Amino acid sequence: MKKPDVKKRKSSKADANKPSRGFPPDKAAELYKRLAKSRPDPRTELEYQDPFTLLVSVVLSAQATDVSVNKATPALFAEADTPAKMVKLGEAGIAKHIRTIGLWRMKAKNVLALSRIILSQHGGVTPGTREALEALPGVGHKTASVVLNEVFGQPTIAVDTHVFRVANRTGLAPAPTPEKVEKLLLEVTPDKYKRGAHHWLILHGRYICLARKPGCPECVIRELCQYEDKTPPEAAKAVIARRRGSSGRASA
Ligand code: SF4
Repeated sequence: MKKPDVKKRKSSKADANKPSRGFPPDKAAELYKRLAKSRPDPRTELEYQDPFTLLVSVVLSAQATDVSVNKATPALFAEADTPAKMVKLGEAGIAKHIRTIGLWRMKAKNVLALSRIILSQHGGVTPGTREALEALPGVGHKTASVVLNEVFGQPTIAVDTHVFRVANRTGLAPAPTPEKVEKLLLEVTPDKYKRGAHHWLILHGRYICLARKPGCPECVIRELCQYEDKTPPEAAKAVIARRRGSSGRASA
């Protein structure tokens, strides 16, 4: 899970024109309604079996891609899918499986240390509170939010680089730091959408609202988005018309 590029955002000229507060409730509800319709069952793209393997996967994904983590974890979890087995595998054994992931030395140490603590302080069961999760090595606010949301059903909204970008570009929750974006998102997101908000925003940023080339023509929230540089309507229409022509489908 990549960190937001806070430095870059601070220097953005367009930010000066952004509203200081998020969307009004009805507009935010419409935005989530559209995202929810396009992805009815949003989930993390990390592959996991239970709270412990999700926790390890999220720790491994810090400043790395989910794809790189998913390539490494099947072999790791085949050998160690519980805290006890992870402790038995040891730092060198863990490191052997995660060398393709950035910061693997530190992550191997953290996975071993957090497994030891889960065994000694939580009876081998991954804790489901923010306080206990954030006390584990390698687990910060964002990692805890992802775990609490994904396997413990809590309405947390973790802000990674994609969520940060989409929240700012659209005007849904414009703010200069991930902490402030999270606070605004929790304020503007209707309760019924809070559980899925992180996933909808991250997937939208990962596949549609790309950092360098946002896919405005195919964006389902295009009419609601306040991004000044989004593809102009005429260009968007032309792209859609071209696509429809090439696929042989009738225009709507
Ligand atoms: S309209 Fe463009 S800039 Fe706005 S959210 Fe969609 S892809 Fe991103």
